[in-house]
Amino acid sequence: MAKILVTGGAGYIGSHTCLELLNTGHDVVVLDNLSNSSVESLNRVQQLAQKSLKFVEGDIRDSQILDRIFQENTIDAVIHFAGLKAVGESQQIPLAYFDNNIAGSISLVQAMERAQVFKLVFSSSATVYDEANISPLNEEMPTGMPSNNYGYTKLIVEQILEKLAIADTRWSIALLRYFNPVGAHKSGQIGEDPRGIPNNLMPYVTQVAVGRREKLSIFGNDYNTVDGTGVRDYIHVVDLANAHLCALNNRLTSQGCRAWNIGTGNGSSVLQVKNTFEQVNGINIAFEFVSRREGDVATSFADNKRAIEELGWAPQYGLEDMLADSWKWQKQNPHGYG
Ligand code: NAD
Ligand code: UDP
Repeated sequence: MAKILVTGGAGYIGSHTCLELLNTGHDVVVLDNLSNSSVESLNRVQQLAQKSLKFVEGDIRDSQILDRIFQENTIDAVIHFAGLKAVGESQQIPLAYFDNNIAGSISLVQAMERAQVFKLVFSSSATVYDEANISPLNEEMPTGMPSNNYGYTKLIVEQILEKLAIADTRWSIALLRYFNPVGAHKSGQIGEDPRGIPNNLMPYVTQVAVGRREKLSIFGNDYNTVDGTGVRDYIHVVDLANAHLCALNNRLTSQGCRAWNIGTGNGSSVLQVKNTFEQVNGINIAFEFVSRREGDVATSFADNKRAIEELGWAPQYGLEDMLADSWKWQKQNPHGYG
């Protein structure tokens, strides 16, 4: 079993991944500055796993903290979630995104190099694909210029890591291109806890269901899709967490830098998500159609064959599980962790 440094481990995807790591017998060190999370998520992870992890409150841009972590712990590999992720905010304060996501990632790999740790799994996104590609999107398709600064930081970090692995063959790096993570752990004890008004569909739907928001605004009903609303590939966060463990195993025995799509391979429209949520959970979701959101594409879903064939990973959960588990988390924690 390995000792893994998880940056951003207190966040939504990070906390679910820490739980799967502990459950599989790995040792976990989390570095998180709690800028978008609460330490309560990690308390619950430890309760669920009946095992403890080490938590360091700090920033990936702080090289002293990173050096101390690598000196005090024999780290085998790093899973790197830490970063800012709000698309709209990235247009208003781009420098914060360039600093946290790009400079932060450089600071992390510099510290890894000083510590001679060369195995890395990076949280990338389907947003790096050129919008002109037709779904299902596969890893051979060209990347493009993302329509927002958040997506731009993911593309730049991917390219930096690719060049790093070419220049120094000791590196072994996985770029995981997530599609749309939703759902929560079956216990309902950990889940997504966005600050402020949610940008993403799923937390918005659950907040309407729990009475925190009046109604869902559906961004556009005139797309060329099954019912006119946008189609995405929703992936259960526990399946996504497990993809990190598979990528880690793959990287422990390989070199270079390689990208894998992490999605189910199925597209669902906004109306299908809303309707399925209502059926599975027996709750009505008030909604209205509004105009399209700038930067949105009609359809995005994954070709996930490469992850299935090379990582030995396969999604276990369907849309109904995702929507039931998202609701269980929100119902048990109407105000998230706080
Ligand atoms: P999240 O905000 O819940 O988790 C990110 C964590 O990183 C938070 O706990 C935050 O406090 C921490 N953090 C941020 N900046 C930091 C810094 N400079 N130093 C230390 N810690 C810092 O987000 P998430 O949904 O769990 O996403 C995790 C990663 O996956 C992010 O890199 C995100 O961009 C990427 N991703 C997310 C999605 C999605 O839809 N959730 C999709 C594709 C990619
Ligand atoms: N969406 C919506 N209303 C919302 C949030 C999202 O109609 O309040 C739609 C959005 O236009 C897209 C889909 O839901 O078609 C998923 O959006 P999300 O922001 O969750 O993910 P992303 O845009 O990153 O794929």
